[in-house]
Amino acid sequence: MSQAFSEYEIWWVTGAQLLYGGDAVVAVDGHSKEMVDGLNASGNIPVKIVYKGTANSSKEVEAVMKAANNDNKCIGIITWMHTFSPAKMWIHGLQQLQKPLLHFHTQYNEEIPWNTMDMDFMNLNQSAHGDREFGHICARLRIRRKVVVGYWKDATAQKHIAVWARVAAAWADAQDMLIIRFGDQMNNVAVTDGDKVSAEQVLGYHVDYCPVSELMEHFKAVKDADVDALFATYMKEYDHVAELENKNSEAGQKVWNAAKAELAIRSILKAKGAKGFTTNFDDLGTDNINDPKFVGFDQIPGLASQRLMAEGYGFGAEGDWKSAALYRTVWFMTQGLPMGASFLEDYTLNFNGRESAILQSHMLEVCPLIAAEKKPKLEVHFLGIGIRKSQTARLVFTSKKGDGVTATVVDMGNRFRLIVNDVKCIEPKPLPKLPVASALWIPQPNFEVGAGAWILAGGTHHSCFSYDVTPEYWEDYAEIAGIEMVHINKDTTIENFKIQLRNNEVYYMLNKALM
Ligand code: MN
Repeated sequence: MSQAFSEYEIWWVTGAQLLYGGDAVVAVDGHSKEMVDGLNASGNIPVKIVYKGTANSSKEVEAVMKAANNDNKCIGIITWMHTFSPAKMWIHGLQQLQKPLLHFHTQYNEEIPWNTMDMDFMNLNQSAHGDREFGHICARLRIRRKVVVGYWKDATAQKHIAVWARVAAAWADAQDMLIIRFGDQMNNVAVTDGDKVSAEQVLGYHVDYCPVSELMEHFKAVKDADVDALFATYMKEYDHVAELENKNSEAGQKVWNAAKAELAIRSILKAKGAKGFTTNFDDLGTDNINDPKFVGFDQIPGLASQRLMAEGYGFGAEGDWKSAALYRTVWFMTQGLPMGASFLEDYTLNFNGRESAILQSHMLEVCPLIAAEKKPKLEVHFLGIGIRKSQTARLVFTSKKGDGVTATVVDMGNRFRLIVNDVKCIEPKPLPKLPVASALWIPQPNFEVGAGAWILAGGTHHSCFSYDVTPEYWEDYAEIAGIEMVHINKDTTIENFKIQLRNNEVYYMLNKALM
């Protein structure tokens, strides 16, 4: 089990009733324990499942749902109807449940025991119809949930539960997520802005502004010895030219400044309990860089953003707080998985027939978790954008090849829309004159349709990419959050995609009106 999710639990509640007598409930209880133990022992579920007993009446259902709501460790409930569990008894409890729900349609026994099956067996093993009764009341009450169908010992079924468990954990993480904005949005940019009140209401996280002058107080308080130590860490972790090792050289000084910036940002994020942050290249403190007593960042703290992303902090450039929160969620739910995630920007296009692709990068801030190289290169180059044009440190690398999924959340005015695109990372060519980290991908089903659909949906130029996330993660996330999701994939056609966008417009308008 991943250490990452050790603070969390998923509760398992088995539906039954007392019609078949006490012996039946005892057997249901025994089978349920065995199944929960089996799932925990499988090694496939990253969050511990805790068996909470059978629910045999409306009062019992309501009690366990209320307890789940009030238990911070509990990130969701798995239900399974071993016997026929008349679903009116689930109404009050389901109406109160505020945690994610997974309905597992499975059965204790794998195959029908043809020769021995009698009516006692049938009174006990009724999930075939019991789970349909439960499904009906969920549908009738419009309860958002994931339905997983499969034998409980089967790894495929377990992996569907595992995806949901990771998403439910990330959802729990987002409910007390604080995103700090150092500076405002980049002026005039529409797509990275949005309604922060709605974001907290719908997606859970809270977004605060922090004056850069407050960040500078942390910057001033950083001890030189700590900067020296981090500087030494950089030299160990990254390839670099010899000049950088001398912190008094021109380039070495820039690396030293970058280390100091990283310590300052980590310090203020820790002090505030923040899980993510945004920066703005036009707001780097109020001091004048030409003043000999200048205190402050000499350029946007790109290396810090790269390394803090790798550590799990959410990041969005140019004040993009929605991307900062979404990246934190992507990082959180993929903990322990091997391939990595990053904030990325559609940088420039490469028209090349069927291999037409989009170079993904940013001025500085790409997360090294996606690097193909074991040791990214630490380099210092001029960056001529923003309030302070200066030489500045950054990690340079290219991404791994392979399939991944990228996602963004946009504010449509009356709702949030999650846009998801399957992408294929291909081999890029070297960029000797553009020293930035990058990925090169073909959006699926191809560049023309993939980019076209993304643009029709109003998707950002910023997105949160992961090799480890599959579309199922985003489906579960959108279901838990109750937001719109459009998924651009190998089957997408522009014609059908436009129909989906139009239908969704009506659906969400009506849905709003009904609430
Ligand atoms: Mn950008």
